[in-house]
Amino acid sequence: MSASRRQFLNAGAAVGAATVAACASPGSSVASGPKLMFGQSPVTVPIVGRDEQFQVRRIYCVGRNYAAHAREMGSDPTREPPFFFQKPTDAIQVVPPGVTVDHPYPPITKNYHYEIELVACLAKGGRNVAADKALEMVYGYAAGLDMTRRDLQRAMGDQKKPWEVGKSFDKSAVITHIHPATMTGHLAKGAIWLKVNGNVKQNANLNQMTWNVAEQIANLSTFYELFPGDIIYSGTPENVGPVVRGDVMTGHVDGIYDLSVKVV
Ligand code: MN
Repeated sequence: MSASRRQFLNAGAAVGAATVAACASPGSSVASGPKLMFGQSPVTVPIVGRDEQFQVRRIYCVGRNYAAHAREMGSDPTREPPFFFQKPTDAIQVVPPGVTVDHPYPPITKNYHYEIELVACLAKGGRNVAADKALEMVYGYAAGLDMTRRDLQRAMGDQKKPWEVGKSFDKSAVITHIHPATMTGHLAKGAIWLKVNGNVKQNANLNQMTWNVAEQIANLSTFYELFPGDIIYSGTPENVGPVVRGDVMTGHVDGIYDLSVKVV
């Protein structure tokens, strides 16, 4: 290493240490370390009734987890184990209670679909978790929309290419605030529905999931070590369909406040 290069690095380390010292706050988990570029904020979701925020680590989604939806997507629900995909954490769009949030119609697609889903939010991690221990990892629940560029998803699937552009894009993971399970209990049954402009489009019951939340966690934890902050969109019931600009979607899961977004 050249002298000037070493001098540069040493200067950088000193500046970094000074900045961290100035910014460190009590309770901060990042008490030391290199100075970070860009100043990105963690992705967080408020928790109902608490002043803490839930920091999202990974967004997992379960595919085809209601039999009737699996059939409408062209697969046989009796033979398919759960499968998973991810969205980037910055796909989160938080919808507070009592307001309608503008949701931008994304680029490229001409067939933009809603999928109302229960979201399980983990406060503990693990791998190869037994299903009968899995709910101990769940901090709470939210209602969410796994928004989907269906035409792109289908086109990529037809070509045996990754779904990525159909599923993983800005604001494609709409979510309510998180309701602690200590408030709601573990949500295994109850209505889940979605309306567009007041008309019921999806209407099912959480107990119709092919794989319940505990089974999802157990299976997912064989593929990935799970960590606090991971959230799981647990699949959508049948009758997914398109929205266009101007449509208002209202989503409901029993035990959670209704989410409302307007496509703009
Ligand atoms: Mn989905």
